[in-house]
Amino acid sequence: MDILDQIYQEIKKYPKIIIHRHQRPDPDAFGSQVGLAEIIKASFPYKEVYVVGKDFPSLNWIGKMDDLNSAEFQDALVIVVDTANAPRIDDRRFDNGDQLIKIDHHPNDEPFGDLMWVQPEASSCSEMIYDFYQRFAEELKLPKKAANALYAGIIGDTGRFLYPATTARTMLVAGALIAHGADAAAISQRENQISMSVAHLSAYVYDNLTISSSGAGYVVLSTEVLKRFGLTEAGTSAVVSLPGRLEEVKAWAIFVEQEDGHYRVRLRSKGPAINELAKNHDGGGHALASGAKAKDLSEINQIVEELEALTSQK
Ligand code: AMP
Repeated sequence: MDILDQIYQEIKKYPKIIIHRHQRPDPDAFGSQVGLAEIIKASFPYKEVYVVGKDFPSLNWIGKMDDLNSAEFQDALVIVVDTANAPRIDDRRFDNGDQLIKIDHHPNDEPFGDLMWVQPEASSCSEMIYDFYQRFAEELKLPKKAANALYAGIIGDTGRFLYPATTARTMLVAGALIAHGADAAAISQRENQISMSVAHLSAYVYDNLTISSSGAGYVVLSTEVLKRFGLTEAGTSAVVSLPGRLEEVKAWAIFVEQEDGHYRVRLRSKGPAINELAKNHDGGGHALASGAKAKDLSEINQIVEELEALTSQK
């Protein structure tokens, strides 16, 4: 029995299943969470299946979170998707269930749970959820809502098939999801769409980006700047990929000031691995997409220097 069989056994066994994902969710977090929930609901209509975590209106087009009483966790199977480490799990009651399963595609640096299925080579956690469905397709159902959610997750984490994490398998899964009713064009359009405020912030990012001769780029977004554009921190997600469109940029950092004065660091790369750098600054993530924290401007300078060292390597 491999790990997929073991997870499937647990899903069949428990009458109540609660699915968590990470804080500050993105389409893959919501997509894999809602996609898995809809597959289980459609396949086992008598089971109670819930998705939990902070409500996030900008992702409600993928699905809505359930408001769950703490007593409900007793005797439940808890599954956490798309979350590398326990501190990042949204809804801290994840530990109150009967059993805990981790399903994720980040490097497994901080294992948690009774059972773990981790595939860092998968483009997205949504791709893994499809793989899970396919393995037991004779018994499982994949409704259109799940197909849409999983497609949204894949589109989100691959940047519409732009990033190197996109594999032949990713494209096969995307095709299969379309065959199951996913509305590919509408989802891509939805994730490509920006507000006028984000358009103005995009112009600010390009105008204020500093690029070193070795190809390290960075920009600082202060709370004052975000206020000027009428955006909260969540509104910065749409601009994170922009520096990568420039030929001159190999790896980049966007520093987003927080209310308490520290900075959220969003790191991306087209080549050099940046996750070790992230780990040195209270963060982590994938080789080409990581996150970290900088306590002040001096730590920002340090991160920029480290980024330059990475882009200077031959
Ligand atoms: P973000 O820039 O927040 O979209 O983060 C990109 C990736 O970096 C995420 O998919 C996470 O895997 C990872 N990440 C972000 N922040 C952290 C953190 N504080 N600790 C560990 N990993 C992180």
